Amino acid sequence: MGDEGAAVYNCLLCDSYALVILGILPDRKLARGTKGRGAYEDLLEEFQLAKCGGPGGTNRVMMLPCPTCNAFANRYELDQVAHGEFLRQGMAVLTPSFLVSFEDGQSQPLYRDENAGNDGKPRWRLCQGVGPAGLELDRSRTGRIHKPSLAPFGVDIRPLTLPEQLRGPRELSEAVHEACAFAEAMHVESEDPRAALTRWVRATGERAGVTGGARPVLENWGEARAAMEVTDETARYMDEVVRERMIREMGAF
Ligand SMILES: [Zn+2]
Repeated sequence: MGDEGAAVYNCLLCDSYALVILGILPDRKLARGTKGRGAYEDLLEEFQLAKCGGPGGTNRVMMLPCPTCNAFANRYELDQVAHGEFLRQGMAVLTPSFLVSFEDGQSQPLYRDENAGNDGKPRWRLCQGVGPAGLELDRSRTGRIHKPSLAPFGVDIRPLTLPEQLRGPRELSEAVHEACAFAEAMHVESEDPRAALTRWVRATGERAGVTGGARPVLENWGEARAAMEVTDETARYMDEVVRERMIREMGAF
């Protein structure tokens, strides 16, 4: 049986980088002899193509449970066990995320945990494509990557600076829920969700007068709200999401 294969994703809301498991990689035992190695490499490439798309990468937006945004969204509990419970109860928020390619025109690289099945820390190493040879996770044990370690690979590592209006835990949690509901609506309703969300980030940046590269939408939340393209249908969808969440929250606490 092969090991799990993962890729790096970037959350549009908070700019965290984290790993997402994409599936089971082809078994390394296949890579015996010259012929076996060739066949194995073809399988790896197929896996990458299927999961991430070809050169230039995927156009998909993935809705993933970003660890940082979930810590923001879950204002009730802070310890790890409680946080795990929160995720398992389906309370997690899914944030709009893109898989990361570290070089223009290249598909997103795949990583394998070389320490899988052993005790101790995972050791994620590049197994397919172009990217950092290894990934350094932070201490949260959530699959989040220690962002400064990505600086040599052209990643903007400026930390998230929350605006004044999101300094309270309640305000922050509500903003994350609203942003996720909007992203989900785009994901479901828009013909090209990636384009719609990219437009949102760009419009947010323009309103906020951001220079020197895109910034996470939570950083300019007032502008991000103003820049949401909300049709009647989107508004209905977002209301529905918020209502469902309230009901689940009331059930859980
Ligand atoms: Zn996030």
